Amino acid sequence: MADFSEEQIHRYARHIILPEIGGVGQEKLLNARVLCLGAGGLGAPAIMYLAAAGVGNIGIIDFDVVEMSNLQRQVIHNADTVGMLKVDSAKTFVEKLNPDVKVNAINERLSSANVMDILEDYDIVLDGCDNFPTRYLVNDACVMKNKINVHGSIFRFDGQVTVFKPNEGPCYRCLYPEPPPPGMTPSCQEAGVLGVLPGVIGSLQAVEVIKAIVGSDGLLVGKLLLYNAIKVEFRKLNIRRDKGCPVCGDNPTVTELIDYEQFCSIPAGGDY
Ligand SMILES: [Zn+2]
Repeated sequence: MADFSEEQIHRYARHIILPEIGGVGQEKLLNARVLCLGAGGLGAPAIMYLAAAGVGNIGIIDFDVVEMSNLQRQVIHNADTVGMLKVDSAKTFVEKLNPDVKVNAINERLSSANVMDILEDYDIVLDGCDNFPTRYLVNDACVMKNKINVHGSIFRFDGQVTVFKPNEGPCYRCLYPEPPPPGMTPSCQEAGVLGVLPGVIGSLQAVEVIKAIVGSDGLLVGKLLLYNAIKVEFRKLNIRRDKGCPVCGDNPTVTELIDYEQFCSIPAGGDY
């Protein structure tokens, strides 16, 4: 078994006792490097559970500031951190929860200029962004750098989760080759969202990240999980890699990163 401290044996006892994780899996978690894109509605529960699970290195990228209207769903922030940078608020939360976790707080807007360098330090990306330009940028960068991308998105009462694993399943562009034109999609501010919905979806993303780290079977690769909170319905659809996909297909046409223009007033960084 790995060289755990007495405190770690207590802290991770419920993982270590699971045959599917065990001491070996816990050590993998402690050595893992996960980039959380956004410390908003999806990022908040994901960061919380990844930190609690002992994922040892968590990068958090966001350039927003905590606002009172975030607290309805972004549970790692609180009334005392309103006005603080989200990455700093998130880091404070994680440090109180689990001192084993090193947080790299990246207060930047993700773009074609920095995404490749930032991804370099991480094995897995948890995409909790709330806008199409970032979603496409991260998808393309993950394909090009061969990184697992655990995708989640929400709208009103609906959420979806899937895992894009290069060479083993589709990517985001296999499903949606091009972003919709600006102005065609309502922002979160316009649409509203049930506060607990990103909690459900972000938690499911955290589950998939942990499974990917410990090498579990049953990753949501090639499967799109849909959740509707009103109907209380989960559906799992098969999705396939498209040979004609512009980025992961046989003859890709997207070979350089693209900075699409912003589609809505909400800045990139996870203000779901
Ligand atoms: Zn693709």
